[in-house]
Amino acid sequence: MMAETMKVKKNLIGMSREELEAELVGIGEKAFRTKQLWHWIYHQGETDFDKMTSLGKPLREKLKETYSILKPEIVMEQLSEDSTHKWLLKTQDGNEVESVFIPEDGRGALCVSSQVGCTLTCSFCHTGTQKLVRNLTAAEIVGQMMVARDSYNEWPSNGHDRQLTNIVMMGMGEPLYNFEEVKKALKIIMDEEGISLSKRRITLSTSGVVPMIERCGEELGVGLAISLHAVRDDLRDVLVPINKKYPIKELLEACRKYPGANNARRITFEYVMLDGINDSAADAKELARLLKDIPAKINLIPFNKWPGVEYECSSHHTIKQFSEILNERGLSAPIRVPRGRDIMAACGQLKSASEGIRKFSQKKPEQPVA
Ligand code: SAH
Ligand code: SF4
Repeated sequence: MMAETMKVKKNLIGMSREELEAELVGIGEKAFRTKQLWHWIYHQGETDFDKMTSLGKPLREKLKETYSILKPEIVMEQLSEDSTHKWLLKTQDGNEVESVFIPEDGRGALCVSSQVGCTLTCSFCHTGTQKLVRNLTAAEIVGQMMVARDSYNEWPSNGHDRQLTNIVMMGMGEPLYNFEEVKKALKIIMDEEGISLSKRRITLSTSGVVPMIERCGEELGVGLAISLHAVRDDLRDVLVPINKKYPIKELLEACRKYPGANNARRITFEYVMLDGINDSAADAKELARLLKDIPAKINLIPFNKWPGVEYECSSHHTIKQFSEILNERGLSAPIRVPRGRDIMAACGQLKSASEGIRKFSQKKPEQPVA
């Protein structure tokens, strides 16, 4: 192979504006070019330097020599009968992650992954059984959004025709265990001269990494969703084991203090409905009591089964009753309509398809991966 092709080119995707500027200055360019290059990458979605006509040929040549604009590679795409769209993506080091687009009446949310697998082991979650875990880089997180926009041909951004109107950090992984990269990625996605998705259209879901919740509100200001799933510590310890470290009381305290939460912008509490485990009338009443002084809304998630799991989903009747008890107490508690079940794209079902056939295995760290 020629030396030329062996050279690893730095990926421009995932760099902050400051980093991009430093690169340009480093190759002898003026700082104002940053804005133009940023616009090409994130507004136009252009990956071919030759087509960045406003940059001038010598600069384009220089960029081509040193940099790449690299998105994750699509390994497989699946379209559900209900139009849910799933991408299995491969990172440069051969790891796999999934993103899911959930369209609804001409708009929709992209469910983005923050890690390969997850270090946490919530007992009802398929991702939590995956052995291989690593943090995704900002490039790989932004890359998911860019791949999805490519599929729906949403470049250059056109506010009215956008279908990908929202992002939910609810894919694989615990986003607050990878806060720095998630933050960097979301800042890029929110930048008004690029993809320009407002923080009001972004929701981050956490299993309850209490020390990071405040920073998430202060530094990102995105909507917060909490995977609560139980109203007692003894049960939550089993369902969402991070509860042993940060019990319900501390978690709710962090929610009360969440910057930006108010009645117009409520915190979502996700509650998975598990038959005979957490779905009694007493549980519903306790849930309403726990949340009474928090600007909250509840999202009841019918449990999505995956091969080998022992839990069952609560009956429709039970879920309805649970929702009514909450409604009577002034809490909005819609039941989430399961989407993409036929392609294993529903909540908590995401897991690398080829994980089981990996030739190597890596021990799962007990702590957040660095
Ligand atoms: N790690 C983060 C975000 C990803 S999971 C978190 O836990 O919040 C997104 C949501 O799906 C969480 O509320 C999670 O608890 C829920 N979930 C996981 N497995 C599920 C399953 N099998 N059925 C329904 N919801 C599930
Ligand atoms: Fe990780 Fe969230 Fe799944 Fe728990 S529910 S194992 S935190 S992805």
